[in-house]
Amino acid sequence: MTLMTGKQYEDSLRKLKLKIYLQGELVENPVDHPIIRPSMNSVKMTYELALDPQYEDLMTATSHLTGKKINRFCHLHQSTEDLVKKVKMQRLLGQKTAACFQRCVGMDAINAVDSVTFEMDKKLGTDYHNRFVKFLTRMQEEDWTVDGAMTDPKGDRSLPPNKQADPDLFVRVVEKRQDGIVVRGAKAHQTGSVNSHWILVMPTIALGPEDADYAVSFVAPADADGIFYIYGRQSCDTRKLEGGDIDVGNKQFGGQEALMVFDNVFIPWENVFLCGETEFSGALVERFAGYHRQSYGGCKVGVGDVLIGAAALAADYNGANKASHVKDKLIEMMHLNETLYACGIACSAEGYKTASGNYQIDLLLANVCKQNVTRFPYEIARLAEDIAGGLMVTMPSEKDLRHPVIGKVVEKYFRGVPSVPTEHRMRILRLIENMTLGTAAVGYRTESMHGAGSPQAQRIMIARQGNLEQKKALAKAIAGIPAK
Ligand code: SF4
Ligand code: FE
Repeated sequence: MTLMTGKQYEDSLRKLKLKIYLQGELVENPVDHPIIRPSMNSVKMTYELALDPQYEDLMTATSHLTGKKINRFCHLHQSTEDLVKKVKMQRLLGQKTAACFQRCVGMDAINAVDSVTFEMDKKLGTDYHNRFVKFLTRMQEEDWTVDGAMTDPKGDRSLPPNKQADPDLFVRVVEKRQDGIVVRGAKAHQTGSVNSHWILVMPTIALGPEDADYAVSFVAPADADGIFYIYGRQSCDTRKLEGGDIDVGNKQFGGQEALMVFDNVFIPWENVFLCGETEFSGALVERFAGYHRQSYGGCKVGVGDVLIGAAALAADYNGANKASHVKDKLIEMMHLNETLYACGIACSAEGYKTASGNYQIDLLLANVCKQNVTRFPYEIARLAEDIAGGLMVTMPSEKDLRHPVIGKVVEKYFRGVPSVPTEHRMRILRLIENMTLGTAAVGYRTESMHGAGSPQAQRIMIARQGNLEQKKALAKAIAGIPAK
């Protein structure tokens, strides 16, 4: 069953015994919980589109391990063409969900762990790569969603893991046994964690020898003993409990983050891919982050496409669509959005083959991509709010629109052009609100800032990869200054 249907995916989640706390309560049935369900629908879309013949080329790939057709989210990139298709797939899914569809973190994690474990085994004679390939083979066969878990809570940012007042603020090995290890700690902001079958944990920073206990990478079933989740709140999330479908803006889809806690979790050796080899921690972080910074050149662009469309409709619906400044704002939004896409495509096209055989993106261009993502969606959102007008945040509720008496008043006073029903105008404005201020703003705005590393993390990489010395040499050569 290398390709699950959406229904099979949903059913597979129902079989998991996930321990999820949401607003102080243990959730009995996560799949049908009104706050969680839209995020599950987003991941489900990654399964449904893979079975749609018109998207087959983007959504599926041929496994280099088995030759079988698999979901691209389970694939190791075998060429720069694969890297480009990954970005196109993410744009497509952003367009279809207008939300974070969560499954990319696992794809980015497997691609990073593959090349790093290969290089580690070669240098140190360890056996991590074989173990990883066995896991990957199962992941591809079962079409699992895997949560790539990197971000530790980190406590006092001025201190390394071993100097923290609380030693659990980074995930660590607390016991090594003959049959495996016991880990404790937590991963924060875990995208898609409650919609995943497995978790792939990686360290969050480059580590020194004194932090050997923190240099750990492993996989665990999402419902393993000792793992639990505390669901993250999102702006306006309780609107999903109201039962309507206008005020939520995007009824069907959403994203999801949670704190993932490891309370003395046993991991058998076969599922451990790094344990104490601190010198490889940095490479793992850098490669995973690089892939995820590439990812944003796809997913955020797809969500941006929906937001631009919504802004254009808002202008159509209130009769402002002919105004030259509105047209120009839409042009600016498209320009910014396509610039992000250009970065995602560029870092993919300039990718290179790693020693293990899979393809890595161009790190400098991926970091430039993500750095732009920390800015442009904000400007696109600002322009969308500008075009939408204040009604986006002052409009009465769906219940008022449906009310037997005041409904007529809402209908009358919030109509724009006569040919468009007031309800359509309300729906579009609520969608813009959702993407700029509501639940989807988590993915489109703040995650654009901090997801895959905060802006400073990219600036460090740009400084490292930018080759300033070569640029100085170029200037010297042109200006007639001796090289030495
Ligand atoms: Fe995928 Fe984008 Fe969500 Fe990251 S933020 S998991 S790249 S959709
Ligand atoms: Fe992310």
